[in-house]
Amino acid sequence: MSKCDNCASKGSCSTVGDSCSKLFPKFGNIKSIIGIISGKGGVGKSTVTGLTALELVKQGFSVGVLDADITGPSMPRFFGIQDKRAQILPGENKDEIRFEPVRSNSGIKVISLNLLTQEEEQPVIWRGPVINGVLNQMFSDTIWGELDYLLIDMPPGTGDIALTVMQSFPLTSLIIVSTPQDMVSMIVKKVVIMAQKLNVPISGVVENMSYVKCGSCEEKIRLFSKKTAEEQAQYLGLPLIAELPMDLDLTESMENGEVERYIFNTFNYKNIIGKIV
Ligand code: ADP
Repeated sequence: MSKCDNCASKGSCSTVGDSCSKLFPKFGNIKSIIGIISGKGGVGKSTVTGLTALELVKQGFSVGVLDADITGPSMPRFFGIQDKRAQILPGENKDEIRFEPVRSNSGIKVISLNLLTQEEEQPVIWRGPVINGVLNQMFSDTIWGELDYLLIDMPPGTGDIALTVMQSFPLTSLIIVSTPQDMVSMIVKKVVIMAQKLNVPISGVVENMSYVKCGSCEEKIRLFSKKTAEEQAQYLGLPLIAELPMDLDLTESMENGEVERYIFNTFNYKNIIGKIV
């Protein structure tokens, strides 16, 4: 019996180096897999995932999004596709299934538990191993096709799912999301140290909710901290990818499921991916 015989990725992975222990998508070919993570909830990790996906599409890349925040999924609402359902198709073998992701208006392929359950308010009350199993399946059994980028919106913190994604998924890199508050940075640093311990490369940090733009001048008003985004990034020991303002129009467009129109027409988010692609 070969050492690959019991592996979930058998036949779809490379057997070179540590890729042997990694899970690979069965129905797709993905050039880069990027995890977006933060230590704390509510700092804008899902927002940064969505904005990055849209900017990549604007630049002509094919993009998928895996909503790995199983208990708090928000990507369907971000893209305004919460009323659609991902199809569950039979696999080649009797016990196998495949997921057909839902496409956003701009063609982003999205898979989320909220696209697989009947109602979006339905909670999942599962223990860690079940959640991990579902996430593995959503990653490996989705029909991703050819993708330049798969972005993974990870749940906050250093728990079970973060560990699964960092250990089992063949990540190209991580983007860390933080807000300008010392308490948040301290918790975010735990994620940074975790990634370093697990040898996962980090592209850098996005400081979200950095400032509010003055309505009548160019001044950036920093609401949470007098420290600059560079200083916050320095504390984390990471390059600063971008600092994003608090943007009421952005929030409103997300609430209304119209974020794609807003991003494509008005919002310039180019700086965020400059250091990623
Ligand atoms: P997380 O994924 O870290 O829990 P979210 O991306 O869901 O955080 O953001 C939390 C809330 O803050 C959402 O309601 C979102 O619309 C809002 N939000 C996030 N970033 C911004 C921003 N830069 N400007 C305005 N609202 C934002």
